[in-house]
Amino acid sequence: MSESGSLLDNIRVVLVETSHPGNIGGVARAMKNMGLSHLCLVNPNDFPSHAASSRASGAGDLLAQAQVFSSLSEAIAECDLVVGASARLRKVAWPQLDVKQTAELAMSKAPLSKIALVFGREDSGLSNSELDLCHYLAHIPSNPAYSSLNLAAAVQVFCYECRVAWLAQQDAEERAEGYRFELASSEQMEGFYQHLQQALIDIEFLDPEKNARFMRRMRRLYHRAELDIKEVDILRGILTAAQRQVLLRNTEAKDVQTN
Ligand code: SAH
Repeated sequence: MSESGSLLDNIRVVLVETSHPGNIGGVARAMKNMGLSHLCLVNPNDFPSHAASSRASGAGDLLAQAQVFSSLSEAIAECDLVVGASARLRKVAWPQLDVKQTAELAMSKAPLSKIALVFGREDSGLSNSELDLCHYLAHIPSNPAYSSLNLAAAVQVFCYECRVAWLAQQDAEERAEGYRFELASSEQMEGFYQHLQQALIDIEFLDPEKNARFMRRMRRLYHRAELDIKEVDILRGILTAAQRQVLLRNTEAKDVQTN
């Protein structure tokens, strides 16, 4: 499956002042494994670098395309959803999401939005003024006694949840498509109304002399339902089965009479 042009391309990972270039490479690999491609670096300590390329392994293309910025505000300028990942739960109450909620919100906005997941420095994380630029803060619920994940590991968790949310969205779309058929044409609907009328007469529900108003009601009802061709097929199948039963009973009754 080719994934270029997927909605995951609308989610960028922004690393703020990363000190170890190996972590940048690890992040590129974590992203590419999960189908994300847009990496932004704010004032990296050492980039490009051999250590980054070697840790990136087969994800060197993400490093080659990475954008470098001199401030976080520039890196997120065109984004309309910005989530800051933080190893610590802060005292000041930023609106918070868990990782799954972050991914689901990101995927629900991705068709029309550009989204940034922002990760902080290895030693001190994100500053409060950097978190002020974020709409939400997201925390991986790690061991409180040792809560800080390696930068690339933290990025991996977020990218994984984004992929899971993306796959779920694709699944739902494919399933919806499986149920979608062309709407029935006027000609097909006319065929259905005639069949319905005849079947209702056959089962002696409808008096053929006084059926006009009733059939108009039926037309209104079925027009409202916007039947597709499959549904018309099913309904006509039911009518045919009912007609067959009536025919069978009538023949049996005749046989009894003649015997
Ligand atoms: N010592 C720093 C943590 C640095 S880890 C601190 O206490 O803030 C580098 C970055 O990885 C963090 O800024 C954050 O973006 C991400 N990260 C690490 N652990 C995380 C966690 N448990 N939840 C969310 N993000 C985490």
